[in-house]
Amino acid sequence: MDLRKVSLSVLPGVGPKRLESLQSLGINNVYDLLFYFPFRYEDMEAKSLDQAADQEKILLKGVVASDPAVFRFGYKKTRLNVRLLVENESIMVTFFNQPWLKDKFETGNEAAVYGKWNENRRSLTGMKVIDVNSDDSIDSVYSVNKSIHQKTLVNLIKAAYEKYADEIETIIPDYLREKYKLLDDRQIVSGVHFPKSEEQSDAARRSAKFREFFLFQCGLQSIKLEDEQKNIGIEEKYDQTFIDKFVQGLPFELTEAQNRVVQEILNDMASKHHMNRLLQGDVGSGKTIVSVIAMLASVTAGYQAAIMAPTEILAQQHFDKISKLLTPLKMRTALLTGSQTKKEHDFITGDIKNGKTNVIVGTHALIQDSVDFKNLGLIVIDEQHRFGVNQRKAMREKGDNPDVLAMTATPIPRTLAITTYGDMDVSRIDQLPAGRKKVETYWIRSQKVEQMYHFVEKELTTGAQVYVVTPLISESEKMDLKNAELIYDKFTELFGDKYQIGLLHGQMPNDQKESVMNDFSDKKIDILVSTTVIEVGVDVPNASVMVIYDANRFGLSQLHQLRGRVGRGKKQSYCILIADPNNEAAVERMKILTSTNDGFVLAEEDLKMRGAGDLLGNRQSGLPEFKVGNPINDINILEVAQEEATRLFTDKKLLNSPKTKALKTFIGQEFDQLNNFD
Ligand code: ADP
Ligand code: MG
Repeated sequence: MDLRKVSLSVLPGVGPKRLESLQSLGINNVYDLLFYFPFRYEDMEAKSLDQAADQEKILLKGVVASDPAVFRFGYKKTRLNVRLLVENESIMVTFFNQPWLKDKFETGNEAAVYGKWNENRRSLTGMKVIDVNSDDSIDSVYSVNKSIHQKTLVNLIKAAYEKYADEIETIIPDYLREKYKLLDDRQIVSGVHFPKSEEQSDAARRSAKFREFFLFQCGLQSIKLEDEQKNIGIEEKYDQTFIDKFVQGLPFELTEAQNRVVQEILNDMASKHHMNRLLQGDVGSGKTIVSVIAMLASVTAGYQAAIMAPTEILAQQHFDKISKLLTPLKMRTALLTGSQTKKEHDFITGDIKNGKTNVIVGTHALIQDSVDFKNLGLIVIDEQHRFGVNQRKAMREKGDNPDVLAMTATPIPRTLAITTYGDMDVSRIDQLPAGRKKVETYWIRSQKVEQMYHFVEKELTTGAQVYVVTPLISESEKMDLKNAELIYDKFTELFGDKYQIGLLHGQMPNDQKESVMNDFSDKKIDILVSTTVIEVGVDVPNASVMVIYDANRFGLSQLHQLRGRVGRGKKQSYCILIADPNNEAAVERMKILTSTNDGFVLAEEDLKMRGAGDLLGNRQSGLPEFKVGNPINDINILEVAQEEATRLFTDKKLLNSPKTKALKTFIGQEFDQLNNFD
């Protein structure tokens, strides 16, 4: 029987009003009710008094030592006092506004009370009286609202279970339940709602979590499958020999990880299905060259390729590097940004439209209406997290379903990769080019800033180049500029006679930015004082010192990005954080940053500290909500569920076999609902 089709009105006491209250909790049918799981349990094991912590909820058992007394106060308020003798200590127990409980206490009898312990006063604020002989030692707590009580809900769940227990059909296929020792759905429902022991509750919850994650992942997989079936992409028949030659001609050898992801990407591009791939790799892992190879492949297959970067500085840098690599191969590259004149713009877009230009590098200027491509085969979105969903979408709509390669240096925690980005294929560069040294990171307080000056001076004498970054203090760019200028003046005063000092900020005209960046690249500038415009992507391998002012104002990921500007060459690199944090969390961030260089670890920490929503900029695009599973704490279960769902959907024989019948029926019907995840 499909319990999703059974109305709640078959249960005793459920009329139109109750139906409405249940609906307000998202419970629309008997299935929903049975799978409306408690969000926590109260442990009703009796505790000894010296184990109880202040404000902890505990179960006290004792002998009633005084007649219960009810006092009235205020308007309709009551207080019930009764003394319990517990381990030879007389404890005052108080209940508010439950005068009827008086009858439960009789002097000399045993009693058990669940409530909140007050260590100072050695008293208990009672919440419930428990039957002393009951063996229900665990109580389920449900999330309810004003229109329905815990107790009512529990009774309804019990009634539904009594009536329909035999009809609960197990959805997770047997081969998985055997492999992971999972309970069937009936055992899950009874074990999660009415556990008789902690072991039973743990086992049921573990199975329930897997079930929930697995169904979610199957939903994502079936969307992907459908996408593949009707969403035919471009088959790019690229020239492998040409690519091999290009790779052999590079000044370095690709790392194993780079080679692997290149192959993953090229396979996707050559196949009919539409590529929607996320390339993750820590800062400095060499994503740019991977994307250049992909773009080259697209061009050899007769298509255009485009790469979009979030800042003009980065777009310019990409353009310089890419055109240097591709021009000798007789490929034409163009740069398109917002600050070009109308004449330049028209000229460049003209050549994009008529197909003369093969590879287009740009900022979000690429998504303007005035830009038309002749035949766009591949879009690369660099630093994808810096673009809004709409900008990414607009870019995709520029061609006839072009392949998409999104890149990010901000590592996406596993949790998000599996849930929010679950419909994308993920390639990961999990290795840095050989010879890179760990960036040594120090944190100093601003009163010790002299130490930093000495350190910088010492490094300059060894030929090092230095970034000095000043933070975004206010929303006003003018203010930031002022701050950067002050610091620039200070460095000029200290080092100006021996070294070249440059200033870079967002409000400078484009050609000026370009010339400052070029001077820094060419080592004509030794110290570059900059606002956060250099945060992402900038690549000057000789720079080896990064000084960050007011580092407490940045988030972990952002600091890691900034630090990633150094440590790109052979020289030992350093990062100095100047910060006077005024709260625990900021202190914690400084400590984490000085202790690890691993972007993935940092991203996980960031997620824990800030919550998924913040990490992505807004709550809606954060983690989907789960009922039993917590995607951060239960990441291991989530990962296994994802693996198994992926495996099932690639094994068409298994997918079409009767073994997965219940699952398919279930997902088929839930499909619309799952489709709404974005
Ligand atoms: P990110 O992944 O942060 O975008 P980049 O693509 O900017 O990193 O690469 C960082 C630096 O490493 C660049 O100077 C690039 O030329 C260099 N690089 C990339 N791949 C390799 C490699 N396999 N061996 C040595 N250097 C490499
Ligand atoms: Mg990059």
